[in-house]
Amino acid sequence: MTDLDAAREGRIDLHCHSHHSDGVLSPEALVALAAARGVRLLALTDHDSTAGCDEAGAAAAARGIRFLTGVELTARWQSEEIHIVGLRVQTEAASLRHYCGALQALRRDRVEQMTRKLVALGVPDEPLRAQLRTMRSPTRTHLARALVAAGRAPSVQGAFDRYLGRGGPAWCEAHWPGVESAVAAIVASGGVAVLAHPHRYRLGKPSLSALTGAFREAGGAGIEVSMAGMSPAQSAAAARLARRHALEGSVGSDFHEPGLPWRPLGRFVKLPEAVHPITDRLTGASAPPG
Ligand code: MN
Ligand code: MN
Ligand code: MN
Repeated sequence: MTDLDAAREGRIDLHCHSHHSDGVLSPEALVALAAARGVRLLALTDHDSTAGCDEAGAAAAARGIRFLTGVELTARWQSEEIHIVGLRVQTEAASLRHYCGALQALRRDRVEQMTRKLVALGVPDEPLRAQLRTMRSPTRTHLARALVAAGRAPSVQGAFDRYLGRGGPAWCEAHWPGVESAVAAIVASGGVAVLAHPHRYRLGKPSLSALTGAFREAGGAGIEVSMAGMSPAQSAAAARLARRHALEGSVGSDFHEPGLPWRPLGRFVKLPEAVHPITDRLTGASAPPG
């Protein structure tokens, strides 16, 4: 079986999160789950962090799963937050360490500002801080989970709706670096840059195509065309973007936690036939084990 066949069968997952960002599983537990689901090629792509890659790589080797280092960098296009996945990155590369370090500082500042707003709204200080204290790469999801644990929101989504969403009472604007910077950091680290979940941006068709073109121009190589939670129509639209801008197709679940069944690890619609899979350049001609 080739990598291409494996991608079409959903046995490749090139986008998922561990507890080193806003996932809940350790890298080792994540790999164990991937193994149980029959995943044969896995990349760990935590937000602005590669801290879990060593552990995940060792766990994958022990289970005979092929592993790629990865990261999901936060960036900006116009005023929209854009995510760029980096695959097979050298985690020690200076370019990537600088980008992740800067983003982690931005994230800590932003979450601190949002925490102050929440406290001013009457939310108790300590449960929020306890949740965030250990996080190097804190996200709004961490604040949302703390709000749920403190009984201030019925669910993570409820916490976003009530407090944390764009324009909400605890919202703070974030000044992420431009998309070109994120792509440059990935390319300089020897990695392959992939435009993440194009169906989730609040951009009209012309803007999304312009973003995709600028991403390609900056050195981007791939786009996610098949993901958990993507409808067939969204996947077809992403495949059209891939062909128009000569990008290869990537697949992934964007798995965060077992409790969110709509983003299951290793499960997503199949890679459309007309798109060239990015796995060819990532793994060469040889098939993953198994
Ligand atoms: Mn996330
Ligand atoms: Mn994302
Ligand atoms: Mn993600």
